[in-house]
Amino acid sequence: MPDWSNYRGVLVYVEQRNGAAKNVSWQLLGAGQKLAAKLDVSLMALVIGDQVEHLAREAICYGADRVFLCEGPELKDYRTRPYSRITLKLIEDVKPEICLFGATATGRDLAGAIATHLPTGLTADTTELDVEPPPSRLLLASRPAFAEKMMATILCKQYRPQMATARAGVFQALPRDPDRKGEIVRIPNPMGEEQIATRVVEFIEQKSGVNLEEAEIIVAGGRGLGGPEPFKMLKELADALGGEVGASRACVDAGWIKHEHQVGQTGCTVRPKLYFAIGISGAVQHTVGMSNSEVIIAINKDPDAPIFQFAHYGIVGDLFKIVPAITAQVRQRKA
Ligand code: FAD
Repeated sequence: MPDWSNYRGVLVYVEQRNGAAKNVSWQLLGAGQKLAAKLDVSLMALVIGDQVEHLAREAICYGADRVFLCEGPELKDYRTRPYSRITLKLIEDVKPEICLFGATATGRDLAGAIATHLPTGLTADTTELDVEPPPSRLLLASRPAFAEKMMATILCKQYRPQMATARAGVFQALPRDPDRKGEIVRIPNPMGEEQIATRVVEFIEQKSGVNLEEAEIIVAGGRGLGGPEPFKMLKELADALGGEVGASRACVDAGWIKHEHQVGQTGCTVRPKLYFAIGISGAVQHTVGMSNSEVIIAINKDPDAPIFQFAHYGIVGDLFKIVPAITAQVRQRKA
């Protein structure tokens, strides 16, 4: 193995849009902190944007020891060229042994550009992260492989840094500590606006888009609903609670609801405060995507349904009677 002894520390990229960080960034700091503790190194974060110093302070509250901050009006919106240049220069200067990014559209673009340029290895969509203790210090990045039928642990032995992306909801953020102390290091942007070939002309929000990964409450339905129509009933409960509607793959495959609502191995990984599993049996491909929810309430007419093994509260009965009753109670309490 080459001598990589000058590469030390764990770096997490803090993704933001319009000055608001993606939760996955804080979750990755939580995962990164465990790796850094095992390796006895510092946890670093990188914040890029316009007027985003508050996020550098937040990164410290969520576990970073040192935050590199690069600000400028030309960095307001994500663009591959300047963001990757800044990150590459930082990696060159600071030499972290591990770099973590959210598996978002931006994180995938940025991590891919950097790994290609360095060049080094990048494990995408990791679901488990660990390290071999010194002297090997190898990152053990695990993810489903071979049509999601097995878990593969991928190592990057020959190159540094070792890089990985992870989806939102897979890892847990540390509790926010407002009194935590850390260092903020300002770094320059090596590219002026005139050197950047692309312009962001307009940002069009997807109006109907659901954001399951950031949702605090999810009301998810399965094949037990029997068709697309009962999803309206789930939407009523979700609206009453201020949550989003999720679904099992069976419903998506049947064309009852769009794929963006799917939770599980081939859908979203979620970690809400409250997850309703309604008419969902609890197949492993579904539970891998929601079992980390803080509180799970399952409603199923089959008392032996596997979902009850994951649920904190289980209601055995007909969902068509139970769901409207819960919605009515929620509305009554809010009135
Ligand atoms: P079912 O297993 O059919 O369960 C329906 C449940 O509804 C039953 O438990 C039944 O008792 C209950 N029920 C019926 N009527 C009522 C009623 N009136 N009141 C109360 N309860 C009722 N699945 C996912 O969800 N997400 C994924 O990302 C995913 N990825 C996959 C990837 C691969 C490679 C493979 C092979 C499969 C994947 N699956 C995924 C599919 C998964 O294996 C299951 O087939 C699917 O999750 C089953 O969905 P379900 O629980 O809605 O349906």
